[in-house]
Parts: sequence; structure tokens; C-alpha cells
Amino acid sequence: MRRQLVMGNWKMNGSRAANEQLVSTFLSLWQSVEGLEVAFAPPAVYLPQVAALLASSKVVLAAQDVSAHVDAGAFTGELSGAMLVDIGCQYAIVGHSERRAYHGESDQQVAAKALACLAIGLTPVICVGESLAQRESDETLAVIGSQLDAVLNVLEPAQLKNIVIAYEPVWAIGTGKTASPEQAQAVHHFIRARLGEQGAVVRLLYGGSVKASNAEELFAQADIDGALVGGAALHAEEFFQICQAA
Ligand code: PGA
Repeated sequence: MRRQLVMGNWKMNGSRAANEQLVSTFLSLWQSVEGLEVAFAPPAVYLPQVAALLASSKVVLAAQDVSAHVDAGAFTGELSGAMLVDIGCQYAIVGHSERRAYHGESDQQVAAKALACLAIGLTPVICVGESLAQRESDETLAVIGSQLDAVLNVLEPAQLKNIVIAYEPVWAIGTGKTASPEQAQAVHHFIRARLGEQGAVVRLLYGGSVKASNAEELFAQADIDGALVGGAALHAEEFFQICQAA
């Protein structure tokens, strides 16, 4: 009932030549299947190139970030949701922990970005996650709860079906340390419960060192509906294997 989603977050990696190689190798391996959606989130400057490379496939396009400003105007360096839709994006990642850490994005700004996406028909992939210190001091659920509440406070319940949430424990991102399937499932279960009645239809992705070797056991968890993949998404064969595991 919830369509699985595997999204590759390329972060600040790529070049025209490397992107072409990555996408064409992936597309030579991948055959789209019912019930699974695959998305690529390249750096913004390459979105039009990747859109063209994906044109004859069912793989969809995602942006790594979006402006919280809905209307065009004097916001140097920002990209609006309308622009992202205009060049073919269906998704935008918001509130990635690297945006929160390096650009000081607050829970409220993340919520505003999610709203800006919904206003234009982009699906926000809203990232939440605790740091190692927070996990070790047993604050995981409190942190996730307040990150989530900032979003839930501004959305109408009917809008929840149009969002995706990615649980990405900060200590697992790019570190090679993955949350165990049980740790991930416990947080996903908590998130789904927090979403209330609409929770049943909201897709919840896990992110943080997802690899070909651990994807299957993560995807086997009841409340894990896919993955947000960083490092492993830069390798066409491995990303293909992760998609196959879904
Ligand atoms: P990783 O990144 O797979 O390299 O840990 C995941 C993410 O940050 O989305």
C-alpha cells in the first residue's frame, strides 16, 4: 500500500562526465518494478542534465534542498520549489543533517521548506535524526519527536500523505556505522505512531550508511519503506543492488 522509495543523495559529488556514466550504468542494469520508485538527487546545477539522462526511464528527480520562500524575488543563491518543478523535480530533500549542521537550519526553517514544497506540488523528504551524544544520553525519541512536531504543527493532517520522512541518525551518516534493523525499526515505529491516523500512508525512509550488504535486512522491517542513500548511491552497481533489495 505504501510504495517503496529508494533515493540516491549525491551530495556535492559529480561532474557532467561522471553523472552520465553513473546514470547510464544504472539504467543499463535497472528495470522498473511496480511498487518501487527510484529517485536521484544530484547537485542542483546538474538537475537539468540528469533530467535529460532520465527522460526515457521511470527514475525520478529530486533536489537536495529548496528555498523556504515560495514567491520569486530577492533571495540570492536560493532555488524555489517552482523552479525545481519547472525543471522536472518531483521531490526535494529538506532538513538534511548536513544542512542543519553547516547552515544552521532550524526545525522551524525545515518546516517552512516542507510547506513551500507542498504549496507547489513537490514532495518534501523531511530528514530527522539524533546525534551520537543524544542517542547515548537516551534523548533519541525526544529529539526526533520535537523535529517532527515542528513540521506537524504547520501542516494540515490532509497534507501528511504528500510527505516522506527520512530517519537518518547523524552518527550513521557517512560513517559506515548503520543503525541496526531493530534500532531503525524502533524509531520508525515511533515516527509512524506520532503521525497519528495518517501515519499508515506516510512513507518512512531510513538513511545512514545503507549499503548493498545491509539493505535487505533494513527493508525487511515493518515500518521501513525505503532508503535515502548517500555514499553508496555514487556507485551504479551498488545502488542497483540496494534497489533490488527493496
Ligand atoms: P550515507 O549518507 O549513505 O553516505 O551515510 C546518507 C545521507 O546522508 O542521506
